[in-house]
Amino acid sequence: MITTKDLTKVYRSRGREITALDGVDLHVREGEVYGVLGRSGAGKSTLIRCVNLLERPTAGTVIVDGRELTALAGRGPRAGGELRRARTRIGMVFQHFNLLSSRTVQDNVELPLEILGLSGRERARKALDLLDLVGLADKARVHPAQLSGGQKQRVGIARALAGDPKVLLSDEATSALDPETTRSVLQLLRDLNRQLGLTILLITHEMDVVKAVCDSAALMRGGRITEAGTVPELLATP
Ligand code: ADP
Ligand code: ADP
Repeated sequence: MITTKDLTKVYRSRGREITALDGVDLHVREGEVYGVLGRSGAGKSTLIRCVNLLERPTAGTVIVDGRELTALAGRGPRAGGELRRARTRIGMVFQHFNLLSSRTVQDNVELPLEILGLSGRERARKALDLLDLVGLADKARVHPAQLSGGQKQRVGIARALAGDPKVLLSDEATSALDPETTRSVLQLLRDLNRQLGLTILLITHEMDVVKAVCDSAALMRGGRITEAGTVPELLATP
C-alpha cells in the first residue's frame, strides 16, 4: 500500500548539507499498522512528510495505493490539482493536533470535505458520522479549546478520515498525551484499522507504542532503516 524506493532527502541550510533520508526502502502492506521507531533526528518526520509529499524528496520514489506520487506535478503547498487530490486521500494526524481554534469541532472535520467539493448538507452528515465513529458525537458544536488532549486528537483523527483515505499517517500522535489517553487513542487507531481496513503508518520514539498497536515496524537511525520486520520478529532480535 505504501512503497518507497531509495528515498533520499538532503536539506541544505546555511551552506551545510544534512542527509535526513539516506536511501529508504519501505514496504507497508495493505491493512497493516506499521511503526517507524527511532530517536529524535533519525529522519522519521522527514520520511512521513515525503510519503504525502508535503516534502519533495531529493531522489527516490513514493508509491501509495498503486500511484506514484513522486511522478505527479507540483510541490509543497502549491502542489498541482492531481497531487492535491491524491493528498486529501492520505489522512494525516499530528502530534499537536493542528486544529483551527476559531472553528467548531464539526467545522474542523468539514474542512477537507470542502476541498473535495461536497455540498453543505453532505459535509455536515459526513462530519457527524465521523465524530460518532471516534466517540465525539456530542462535541460537534464546541470549540477545540473546550476539549481534552485526547478528545482533540480524536477530532484530528476524524478530520484525517474525511477524505475516505486508505492510508493514515500518524506523526507522533500520542506524544503529547498522558499514558492513559495514549492507550485509548492507540486503541481507536487499532479499531479503525480493523473496522475500515485502514493502513496506518505511524512514527514514534516509543517502543511501547509499537508494541501496543503495530503489526510490523522499522527501526530508523541516521536517515536509514537499520532493521525491519514483524513486531514479534523485531522483539526476538537480541
Ligand atoms: P525525526 O522525526 O526522527 O526526529 P527529522 O526527520 O525531523 O527526524 O530530522 C532528520 C534530520 O533532518 C535532522 O538532522 C534534522 O535536523 C534535519 N532536518 C529536518 N528538517 C529540516 C529542515 N527543514 N531543514 C534542515 N534540516 C532539517
Ligand atoms: P544508543 O546505542 O545510541 O545509546 P540505544 O540502543 O540505547 O541507542 O537505543 C535508543 C533508541 O533507539 C531507542 O528508542 C531504541 O528503540 C532505538 N533503537 C534501538 N536500536 C535501533 C536501531 N538499530 N535503529 C534505530 N533505532 C534503534
